[in-house]
Amino acid sequence: MQHILDKALRQGRSVTGLGEVASYIPELSKADKNHVGVCVMDSVGGCFEAGDAEERFTIQSISKVVSLAVALELYGMEAVFGQIGMEPSGDAFNSIVKLAGDASRPYNPMVNSGAIAVASFIAPELTFDEMLERTREMCGDPDIVLNEAVYHSEMATTSRNRAISYLLESKGVLRCGVDEALELYIKMCSLNVTARSLAYLGLLLANGGIRLQDGKQLLQPETVRVVKSIMHTCGMYDGSGEFAVRVGVPTKSGVGGGLLSVVNKRMGIGIFGPSLDKKGNSIAGEKILQFLSAQMKLHVFD
Ligand code: GLN
Repeated sequence: MQHILDKALRQGRSVTGLGEVASYIPELSKADKNHVGVCVMDSVGGCFEAGDAEERFTIQSISKVVSLAVALELYGMEAVFGQIGMEPSGDAFNSIVKLAGDASRPYNPMVNSGAIAVASFIAPELTFDEMLERTREMCGDPDIVLNEAVYHSEMATTSRNRAISYLLESKGVLRCGVDEALELYIKMCSLNVTARSLAYLGLLLANGGIRLQDGKQLLQPETVRVVKSIMHTCGMYDGSGEFAVRVGVPTKSGVGGGLLSVVNKRMGIGIFGPSLDKKGNSIAGEKILQFLSAQMKLHVFD
């Protein structure tokens, strides 16, 4: 495994020059686009790392997975999907087009509009500190903290998400005020994680919500099944279809450069690589996953 990971890392590193780090959140533009790290945790307790697997970066949209899981645990699937769709949008993650048109609700919980709606479900029930605690537990990482610089940087430049939030409010989708929903959404995006924390979360999901280390059921099986299905169909935004065909591993990306992947029943994979393709997905991460999927027959239909 270590040998395969080292090889995968080299492949990932070879393409970092083809992308760019995110700059629409000013603080994210400080990332070094040549950094790449990968961590794999498997269902028999193995943990393998290569490259910058311990470097901290903001979780960004991968927090949508955590928040969806929490909302499902709080309210159940019918209530959550009564307000938010489960279809891939085919649009960019921050698209406003369909919502500004006649769509009555967000397409799915993995695009910004859907995740802001999910945050509005959670905000009346749980504080940010409680969400932080849950994230730490799901990622097996007590060192996760709010990256204040990234949080303030996004808050100061988030007109688009604010516009999305007002549209959601106008359509009766929000369960709390715009400011409350946005604050929780952006704070969750600004949590500092590592590739290793994401691999841990991936393994938790691969293992049906049961923590491998002590057998504790942290998430209900139905929650985990729904989350993995949505990751598979919507996790890579408007690149989700092609990724499902070529790689076939349920994955969620974030513009901080993270990727969270779940190989059902077998392993969790966490990747860091802040050089992004045009759709906002880690370019090295996609290359690494393509390689690992082919080498280890990880495609969901292999
Ligand atoms: N916080 C980011 C935003 O709302 C998350 C986007 C992402 O990771 N794709 O724009």
